[in-house]
Amino acid sequence: MSLYLNDNLSALDYVRKEYLRELQLERLRKIVQHAYSNVLHFRNRMDERNLQPKDVQTLSDLGKLPFMVKTDLRDTYPFGLFAVPMSQVVRLHASSGTTGKPIVVGYTQKDLEVWNEVMKRALASSGLTHEDVIQVAYGYGLFTGGLGAHYGAEALGATVVPTSGGNTQRQIMLMRDFGTTAVCCTPSYFCYMIEQAAESGIDMRELPIRVGVFGAEPWTNEMRKRIESSAGIKAYDIYGLSEIIGPGVAVECSCQQGMHVFEDHFYPEIIDPDTGEVLPDGEFGELVLTTLSKYAMPMIRYRTRDLTRIISEPCKCGRTLRRIDRISSRSDDMFIIRGVNVFPSQIETALLSVEGTTANYNIILSTEHGLDCIEVDVEVTEELFSDKVRSMESLRQHLTAAVEGLIGLRIKLKLVAPNTIQRSEGKARRVIDRREH
Ligand code: ADP
Ligand code: ZN
Repeated sequence: MSLYLNDNLSALDYVRKEYLRELQLERLRKIVQHAYSNVLHFRNRMDERNLQPKDVQTLSDLGKLPFMVKTDLRDTYPFGLFAVPMSQVVRLHASSGTTGKPIVVGYTQKDLEVWNEVMKRALASSGLTHEDVIQVAYGYGLFTGGLGAHYGAEALGATVVPTSGGNTQRQIMLMRDFGTTAVCCTPSYFCYMIEQAAESGIDMRELPIRVGVFGAEPWTNEMRKRIESSAGIKAYDIYGLSEIIGPGVAVECSCQQGMHVFEDHFYPEIIDPDTGEVLPDGEFGELVLTTLSKYAMPMIRYRTRDLTRIISEPCKCGRTLRRIDRISSRSDDMFIIRGVNVFPSQIETALLSVEGTTANYNIILSTEHGLDCIEVDVEVTEELFSDKVRSMESLRQHLTAAVEGLIGLRIKLKLVAPNTIQRSEGKARRVIDRREH
């Protein structure tokens, strides 16, 4: 096995593919057996299909197993999918979910070690070491973001500043006074921090911060470019979800060309969301993940609803782990307007490709005369707003054309004054749906 290692790099990031596949199969068989023996819900699903753990002989046999979906977690609320007695569960987290009961996840001590390990590897992949001062501005609490990043940063040996979300002016003061070199939070919250810093006369480019590890919500490459240039940092994309472990399922490396999945712990598949058929690497579809080493709540073939593709070509960084492309959207974020599928990320891409706007926008869906309509409200910069009406109108036309060109639908676009669109300290909500259903 040829490995290039230093303190912060795991051998498993660079392992030979054949060895990785062997390890995955061994772990898969063990976890399927564990779930079958301990989770009634999973056992019933397997029995209905006349399947037994011994039917998993190869990695592609995974494709025979039933999917798990979000409602499986809701229907078994709170602990119905746990596979160990509560005495072995050392931590609970919950994700808000949009409606009704939250989704509860549990971890054994060993599961937490896996999580710390993948988060540590994720931060190392973003170019961080024990020399860094990492400010964790994801929310701490039931949400997995804060504690996930926190323990990963500690495992890396970095200095952790656990600010959690909110109190933005204080975040900036600490960033400056403590010499923070990296921030972990949602990309939308970081945009707000840049703005708030500027309001207090602080140019982030002059602070020691050099890296951002951003995730928990969809964002575009255009947003990355804006963040990198206005803060003078490198902005890395990190992906995860509570059901699987929390943040640290996949992360970018210095190449910033897709996120390496920590495949020794999470097995990725891409399926056609309509038929459930497994698609070959390279094709876009819904990401399905299987936890290979999580024992309190194993997830077998969990349908994430996140849309992406697997990139299996070798990466210049040398990691042998396959990558997933930037998550363009959750399938539930997609809206259908007059028969056309529209993703908020397409609108963001179009808006941010034009100069003169801030990164703040809302997408408002409504019904007019029985027809679905899209209105996009975009905030313009201070300089532009105080400028002549004519340049505002020309910007409006320019933006309208950019969005319409990308989504293929007519929209109404309104330029709004600076600081009128609500900012986010966590996950941004940019789509307001007022349609009459
Ligand atoms: P909730 O379900 O309450 O939003 P989670 O934190 O578990 O709580 O959310 C996980 C979801 O967040 C993922 O399924 C995905 O849709 C989104 N997400 C996380 N990281 C990213 C990312 N880097 N890019 C796009 N979406 C992301
Ligand atoms: Zn890479």
